[in-house]
Amino acid sequence: MSALSSKLHAVGVPKPNQHTGPMAGHVRKGRVYMSPLAATGALRAHDWFKDDLPDLLWPALVLAEQGNESVRRFVRWQKAVQDRLGEHGETVFVAESLDGRLTHLSALAERLPGADDIVVEEATRFELLSEGVRRALGSYPFMPAPWLAGQVEVRPAELAELQLIRAALLGVLQDGHREALLKCLRTWSAVQAGTFSSDAQTIELLKHYPGDEATRSAADATVRAGWGAHKFAVLVNEPNHFDEAIKLARVFWGANSMTSRCIRKQDTEGNGDGHVSEDGRDMDDNSSAELVAGDAAPTPVPADGAHLRQFTMDLLSSFVEALETAPARLHDKERQEVISGLVARAGRDLIAVLTAPDLWCMEHGSHIVRMLVETKIYLHWMAQQEPSVYREFQEYGAGKAKLYARISEEVPAEARKAGFREAIDEFERLSHNHDVLDHRVVDTRDTFAGGKSLRAMAEEAGLLDFYRQAYSLASGVAHSEWWSVETHAMEPCMNVLHGLHLIPSLSLSFGGNVPLASSWVDQFYSLVRTALDILRTDEAAVAAAFAWLHEAAEVPVPVPQDG
Ligand SMILES: [Zn+2]
Repeated sequence: MSALSSKLHAVGVPKPNQHTGPMAGHVRKGRVYMSPLAATGALRAHDWFKDDLPDLLWPALVLAEQGNESVRRFVRWQKAVQDRLGEHGETVFVAESLDGRLTHLSALAERLPGADDIVVEEATRFELLSEGVRRALGSYPFMPAPWLAGQVEVRPAELAELQLIRAALLGVLQDGHREALLKCLRTWSAVQAGTFSSDAQTIELLKHYPGDEATRSAADATVRAGWGAHKFAVLVNEPNHFDEAIKLARVFWGANSMTSRCIRKQDTEGNGDGHVSEDGRDMDDNSSAELVAGDAAPTPVPADGAHLRQFTMDLLSSFVEALETAPARLHDKERQEVISGLVARAGRDLIAVLTAPDLWCMEHGSHIVRMLVETKIYLHWMAQQEPSVYREFQEYGAGKAKLYARISEEVPAEARKAGFREAIDEFERLSHNHDVLDHRVVDTRDTFAGGKSLRAMAEEAGLLDFYRQAYSLASGVAHSEWWSVETHAMEPCMNVLHGLHLIPSLSLSFGGNVPLASSWVDQFYSLVRTALDILRTDEAAVAAAFAWLHEAAEVPVPVPQDG
């Protein structure tokens, strides 16, 4: 840790300039918010399992095959090799080369003639090169230090090798102590060579490691942290030092993708976390990729949500009835047209979604949330503007219809299907343009409000929190932000030989979330009341149209969630 913190100190950790709100404690640059650590620019997150473990495959295999105790023989092997290579006067280089990495052994053999024979002789003497370990190492192409496996050519992994490699990978994932033992190899080598330096506390902690049970977990944590800090320090001086290890990692994981298939959780139900099948070649040859959604039938309408669709239809009907039975301000018809049109559109969308419980979940229902929030913000914001805003809203749409008609004209004649001409004609009608005098303005700014964003409208209408809390999250789903794709559409591959990657999920979301669907209906009810308030629709007409709502005791009365 000390190396890392001194590096951070050297580069200087910026002070947060955000003191309130959800990004408090962050450093803002433009529209980007960074944690102080990220703002140093010195942070590089490493995935040691993916990048480094393939390079440490040899000791990982030995520990998987022979248990954690075998690490002691590695330490004795280090000492023996150091002694025999002592004549070269390369104490530091030799010590650093015996950290268990294949790439370092390769570099050692290149620099010191005969080092490969010494490494293999001593490894054999300390029983670190069993037949199984050598075969597993020899199953990968282009491995550094191929002389360690002692094989002339690559032999594809068979069942026994795959099982050992899998145990090696799982072993370090499941056993933090084993990970620490692997990462301590470099420390032990340096200590034995007399080239190790660290603070007194760390040295004291490592003195009785790994024998002392009382201090083991503290020492494990120190070793793991120290290993990362050491790697960071090496990279600062030699940015390309681990390039060979990365190359090896690419080959390793690539080869594994050829020898075994992805494993889904659903494939392993009752089988633990994945297994190697009998032929060792395909872990999962029997089940082909197939979408599953319960029994593959659409989600049935939940009993406690069965009333929602009819209830929403009744709300919409009563809304229309109230408007039609109340005196209307027909001299400025655009106002009532726009408001009632937006509410009707929202209600129709919601009613359609309420027929399909598959959509009653965040993955497939986010567009409903967006639409309801957007409509509410439109209504409130427009109510604060000059009454002409409703005509402008319609004219903005008419301009878009003209634009779409023109764009449709671009489609070449041979690509036009039946009804194409009629569609263009309909857009032209909707542009409400004059046949001869083309007066329709096309405004291509983002919104009808001169390009003012929905967020800005929400802010002006006092609905910013509503926007932030409901709309932006649902937008993330609609725009396929990675968090949403990851949680909704992906699942981890359970085949540890594949290094923990994500694969497309074959399980469909089971919708039918009644509280979520109910909250949409609540929102719609709130929209209806908002619209009637803004239109100042005659109270008696409203009361009459919605009388059923208060009489029908068995129907749950939605409570509007916000103003
Ligand atoms: Zn996979």
